[in-house]
Amino acid sequence: MKEISVLDKTFKRFKNVEEINTSIKVIAEKINKDYEGKTPLFLGVLNGCFLFAADLLREITLDCEVSFVKVASYKGMKSTGEVNQLIGLDRSLEDRDVIIIEDIVDTGNTIENIVELLTKAGCNSIKIATFLLKPEAYKKSIKVDYVAMEIANKFVVGYGLDYDGFGRNVKELYVLKD
Ligand code: 5GP
Repeated sequence: MKEISVLDKTFKRFKNVEEINTSIKVIAEKINKDYEGKTPLFLGVLNGCFLFAADLLREITLDCEVSFVKVASYKGMKSTGEVNQLIGLDRSLEDRDVIIIEDIVDTGNTIENIVELLTKAGCNSIKIATFLLKPEAYKKSIKVDYVAMEIANKFVVGYGLDYDGFGRNVKELYVLKD
C-alpha cells in the first residue's frame, strides 16, 4: 500500500521489505566479521526492536546469546529528574561483549542512558546496532556502530515502530505525510 492511516495520521510508504532486508544483511555481515571467534550477547531494547532483532539475528552466524530489556523511567523521590532503569536483564553482563539492538536512534538520549547503565554493569565491550539513525537529530558523541539505514529527521512508523502504540506490525516502513 502506498499510504496507510494510523490513528489520526496518514503515512506514505518509505522503505519496502526488500530495501529493509538488504540493509540488514549488510550490517549482519559486518557483525559476523567483527565478532569472529567471540560469543557476543545481543541485547534488544523493547518494544520497537522486535522485528529488526528477529531479522538481524537470523543473519547472524556467530555463537551468541540473545536477551531483551525495556527502558523504564521514573521520577526520583526528590524530583531530581528522570532516572532510567533497565528492566528484564536476566544475564550477568560482566566481561561480556554486548551488542545493543535498537529500533531507532534519534537525539541519542535513550542510547546514551543505556550505554551508561551497561558500562556500570562491567561489560567487556558495548556496541550499538540500530535499524534507523537520524543523523540530523543525533546530538551525542557515542559512536553508533552498525546502522542499517540513515533517514531524514521525519517521523516514521512500521517495522516495529509505533505511533501512539499502533503501527508496529506493519511490515514496511512509512513516513508521516507532510
Ligand atoms: P532518542 O532518545 O534517540 O531521541 O529517541 C529514541 C526513541 O524515540 C526511540 O526509541 C523511539 O521510541 C522514539 N522515536 C524517535 N524517532 C522516532 C520516529 O521517527 N518514529 C517512532 N515511531 N519513534 C521514534
